[in-house]
Amino acid sequence: MSRRVLVTGASRGIGAAIARELAAAGFQITLNYRSGEAEAQAVAASIESAGGAAQLLGFDVSDRAATEAALLDDIEKNGAFWGIVSNAGVVADAPLAGMPPEDWDRVIRTNLDGFYNVLSPLLMPLVRLRDGGRIVAISSVSALAGTRGQANYAASKAGIIAATRSVSKELAKRKITANAVAPGFIATDMVADLDEAEMASGVPLGRVGKPEEVAATVAFLFTDGAAYITGQTIAVDGGLT
Ligand code: NAP
Repeated sequence: MSRRVLVTGASRGIGAAIARELAAAGFQITLNYRSGEAEAQAVAASIESAGGAAQLLGFDVSDRAATEAALLDDIEKNGAFWGIVSNAGVVADAPLAGMPPEDWDRVIRTNLDGFYNVLSPLLMPLVRLRDGGRIVAISSVSALAGTRGQANYAASKAGIIAATRSVSKELAKRKITANAVAPGFIATDMVADLDEAEMASGVPLGRVGKPEEVAATVAFLFTDGAAYITGQTIAVDGGLT
């Protein structure tokens, strides 16, 4: 049996690319989505037509009880996850002075609480596999540099970095690594409203990134060759930070 990997927010964008890349590397992928079931099904179909294995598991990562119930039910039936990619995330941009409280809460609950909600039920089953393991959290350059209008998002993504670093120390004895990947501007729905030329103009490499370029870094962290890298944050940002 190949190792199981959960990718949250895998119905599109960066999560979908990570799921495809890890499936191509031989992992058995579980694609999480919130509302995009049809899109997640299309990602699963593309993985299967390329010879990989994928299954769907829909839940809202910001809903603690629903997340725990879905994950515990899944691992009881199918076994523990060897790898977890905490990727699901949202933005709700506004300068802090005018940020509605519900936008602060929604971003923190999805991006930061979601990290806890997903990892918490999965870590002990992962440890009990006694086979090492991989945890990758998708952060953002906003966490490293700060971005106007993204105080909520930057705080959530900086929290993920600090939490991942702590988790890396908790699990190192078990040969489980935990790292964060911090993308810059990546061409997905999340930045679809922004002007691409304007985004690219501030990037030393002169262009926005592709979801596959983030996925390649995540896939590297899943290799045996990356077994000695833990507690790190790797920026995939064309030189922004
Ligand atoms: P995207 O295209 O908007 O996709 C977001 C994904 O997250 C979708 O699959 C969505 O599922 C899922 N999702 C959102 N809220 C969820 C929830 N509560 N529960 C479960 N799934 C949820 O975004 P993306 O650009 O691929 O971003 C992926 C990650 O990279 C995010 O964490 C984002 O913050 C980070 N990131 C992106 C960029 C960028 O420039 N694009 C830069 C830095 C970091 P549904 O469609 O089913 O709702």
